[in-house]
Amino acid sequence: MSEKPPTSASLFLNEDTDKPPLPERGDLRRRLRRAMEKRASNMKDRMNCISRSSVKGFLRRNLFVLFTVAAVVLGVILGFSLRHHNLSLRSIKYFSFPGELLMRMLKMLVLPLIVSSLITGISSLDSKASGKMGIRAVVYYMVTTLIAVFIGIVIVMIIQPGKGSRDSPVANGGNIESIQATDAFLDLIRNMFPPNLVEACFKQYKTMYKKIVHTRIVTVAPNLTDSLNVTASNLNINLSRVVHTIQETMEETVPVSGSSAGVNALGLVVFSMCFGLVIGNMKQQGQPLKDFFDCLNEAIMRLVAIIIWYAPVGILFLIAGKIVEMKDVAQVGGQLGMYTVSVIVGLLIHGLFVLPLLYFLVTRKNPYSFIGGLLQALITALGTSSSSATLPITFRCLEENNHVDKRVTRFVLPVGATINMDGTALYEAVAAIFIAQVNDMDLNFGQILTISITATAASIGAAGIPQAGLVTMVIVLTSVGLPTEDITLIIAVDWFLDRLRTTTNVLGDSLGAGIVEHLSRTELQNQDEEVHNSVIEENEKPYQLICQENDLLNHVNSETTM
Ligand code: ASP
Repeated sequence: MSEKPPTSASLFLNEDTDKPPLPERGDLRRRLRRAMEKRASNMKDRMNCISRSSVKGFLRRNLFVLFTVAAVVLGVILGFSLRHHNLSLRSIKYFSFPGELLMRMLKMLVLPLIVSSLITGISSLDSKASGKMGIRAVVYYMVTTLIAVFIGIVIVMIIQPGKGSRDSPVANGGNIESIQATDAFLDLIRNMFPPNLVEACFKQYKTMYKKIVHTRIVTVAPNLTDSLNVTASNLNINLSRVVHTIQETMEETVPVSGSSAGVNALGLVVFSMCFGLVIGNMKQQGQPLKDFFDCLNEAIMRLVAIIIWYAPVGILFLIAGKIVEMKDVAQVGGQLGMYTVSVIVGLLIHGLFVLPLLYFLVTRKNPYSFIGGLLQALITALGTSSSSATLPITFRCLEENNHVDKRVTRFVLPVGATINMDGTALYEAVAAIFIAQVNDMDLNFGQILTISITATAASIGAAGIPQAGLVTMVIVLTSVGLPTEDITLIIAVDWFLDRLRTTTNVLGDSLGAGIVEHLSRTELQNQDEEVHNSVIEENEKPYQLICQENDLLNHVNSETTM
């Protein structure tokens, strides 16, 4: 480096032509200019590179979410623009076909996903850890469901959507069968223990009612009153002579066993949990089964990764089809409009404030960035109205985006999708009190308490399928003597509220997985250490064996040389 150090004057370039610069100075200036230009272009390149790569990275990471959001927007636009064309029901059905395909694909994965994830999830934990995790999950489910019901009751009491003269006539055509609260509760327990596992994959137990006519022979004394009037002296007469028999007919409604179509998810969850627990306790002997279900789970998740590409298309058509199909929105006014507002406000408070607050209080982490990772699952829930069908996407979001431990997601998510439904519980409480208000029925504290308990039970019993909450509503209504046919009052807006409550249900399950993971971190770490130690032991084994072999050889050698 024999260049002269640049003087301060040389930095301020002199462009004077009558004083020709010295050859060294000109050279220096050119070099300096070139260096500065090079540096500037490098900087520019780097800036371009940074912004391009970060934008690319952002797009790659959020591609699915962006596609899904775009699908929702397009679906809404397409739906509203097609409404003016008055499509026939047949055309709407054909139009919704791509959406129907998505539902079918997701449902196809649910059954093997629930079974394999629960079995592998539980068998990979020791029974103490899974017990603790299970208790935490159940406590979380109960607490959040009861909070949701409470919010619903407070909102409906404040807004009073059903007060005033009844403006919605009872519509006919609702085909909701009424079931008594006791029978519904017993069905819940019966479904936990399916007698036939194959049947549980497509059928559930459901109590039906049968009218049975009893006839019995009653012996009566027709002139009994006359006989009572007889004088003491007349009591000596033989009554058997005046007594004769009649046939009495009595009608009784008897609960008999029946079934309804649909996966008995609760039964499969209970079976898979017990099976996983047993396999886990079998240690080495249970390993082949554990590996099998692990492999099955992995394969299903790979299928999810493929189907996820189709999800935006399906969601677009599901949403557009529903918008084309819906009745005139302007007609939903008055009491029904206020009822809709009450449910929406309740769901927003629960989903956007209460659940995130709970997550923050327990984990001390930002709940909204956690929710950001779940966007695709939430939008899928909005599109499909089914928390079960959304389950594969929920798994993916939690594991890939939020990095929740697989042992937790596999255990907590399938159970949550089956029994934890905060949105449904909130909606059932609001709907029951709304129907009471419409009927001018003042509910006392005991009745409100009954509604809270039955709404919680009904949400546990509701399957994660579209509008299941509407069916289990009957339990809540019958428990306080409200007319079940009034469910038809709220049917018009149920398709819409169903989407919102399903989204809340999925959000509750997912935040629950985050909370349970945080609370169970010690057990998970211990388990990791145990696995680590056992791996080291395995690796050390050959060394020990080698030492033993060497000892043996030394011994043999020493004996032969002697
Ligand atoms: N559709 C809801 C779900 O799948 C259940 C309901 O109808 O409330 O979570």
